[in-house]
Amino acid sequence: MKVYNTLTRKKEEFKPLIPGKISMYVCGPTVYNYIHIGNARSAIAFDTIRRYFEYKGYEVKYVSNFTDVDDKMINEARKEGITVPELAERFINAYLEDTSALNIEKATLHPRATHEIKEIIEFVQALIEKGYAYEVDGDVYYRAKKFADYGELSHQNIAELEEGASEHINEEEQKRKEDPIDFALWKAQKEDDEIAWDSPWGKGRPGWHIECSVMSTKYLGDTIDIHGGGQDLEFPHHENEIAQSEAKTGKKFVNYWMHNGFVTVGKDEEKMSKSLHNFVTVHDILKEIDPQVLRFFMASVQYRRQINYSDENLKQAQIILDRFKNTLTSIDYRLKDDTNAKADPKLHEAIMSTKQKFEDAMDDDFNVQNAMTAVYELLPIVNANVNDEQVDKTELADFKKILSSWLEIFGIDCGKLVAVETGDDDAKIEALVKKRDEARKNKDWAKSDEIREQLKEMGVVIQDTPQGTRWSRE
Ligand SMILES: [Zn+2]
Repeated sequence: MKVYNTLTRKKEEFKPLIPGKISMYVCGPTVYNYIHIGNARSAIAFDTIRRYFEYKGYEVKYVSNFTDVDDKMINEARKEGITVPELAERFINAYLEDTSALNIEKATLHPRATHEIKEIIEFVQALIEKGYAYEVDGDVYYRAKKFADYGELSHQNIAELEEGASEHINEEEQKRKEDPIDFALWKAQKEDDEIAWDSPWGKGRPGWHIECSVMSTKYLGDTIDIHGGGQDLEFPHHENEIAQSEAKTGKKFVNYWMHNGFVTVGKDEEKMSKSLHNFVTVHDILKEIDPQVLRFFMASVQYRRQINYSDENLKQAQIILDRFKNTLTSIDYRLKDDTNAKADPKLHEAIMSTKQKFEDAMDDDFNVQNAMTAVYELLPIVNANVNDEQVDKTELADFKKILSSWLEIFGIDCGKLVAVETGDDDAKIEALVKKRDEARKNKDWAKSDEIREQLKEMGVVIQDTPQGTRWSRE
């Protein structure tokens, strides 16, 4: 199995530290608002990756944090007239609601920065003792140049980094820092009402990057298999995580760095941003769009590629999902009817060859598009079989099982997909369908048409198949 490693810019053979087990850390959201589709993309991409590892039989320990204190949290809480923990509670709950609607599995652990303050302080202190950090008036900074590999992940040298940093630094920071590329590990409290904790450097709070180094090493160990996040986290966030962690432990922090691509919005494929007013939250989308469709759409683009969020692309995902649904529904009907089974070695062969293609594609850095194409090409073969007078029920039941396991990787629950809406008038509909079947048997076409019309008015669609009449709600 091959995985693209951002650190080496190469697809590498994947080998976990412990055979059969995978440790995975994925940077989570800052919980000051509902998650936007960029956050959802990252959560879906790594959930899909995790599910494929589980499909392959790996035991995955998956840690994803909540950043529940930072400038954005403090500003938003102030605006709303509530405390930072109250704000965090509200949007952690919203996150869990939205991700559960998208069928994203809960992490093995969801640690929060504010629950790890003691460990964060100890970590910062260790960096000061080793000469990698220094205190200035209650702030603590990381001495980036002292870490020899600084810039390796984002492929930048110190001169480039210094040029970039000097463009953003303000005068006040300039005075405090030894070097413009140094970054904050601990920030002194600025105003009395600002959330803060006691520390050896006075009252303050952690910088953003340090929490991930602390949580990753605490819950998964000094070296882990996979660390993931959006492309925008490559620099400075992940670069700084490496510098902090490796300086403290003296060991390699992460074996495979994985980054998901951006989301663009609309026909013009604009990058999503608040200033462009195309900032789409999952909370809003799910008022209008079936979560299964959004999930399937986002999971079926390879994680490193850019996703274009548009009505057109969502519609396309809906069409494909409907085809899977139709095939699964037909199989369910055939598994219930009383035709005799006949073994069909050709169908068996086609399913096995698709399984191989599916796994080959997924083993190639999670090429979900090729994997889905292979499955999609199998559908006409299965559909033809389903419509045969005699079907191989064992084979169809096996296919249903394997298709369900593939779609599950994409976050689609097949039980939910084919779930039929039940209503108070089910018995009445069944009776009408039966009456129509009798009319057809007696070649009473006028009567049969009349009943079809009556059903149509009730919002029921009739489908005549060689194995009998099927009905569904519009
Ligand atoms: Zn992080």
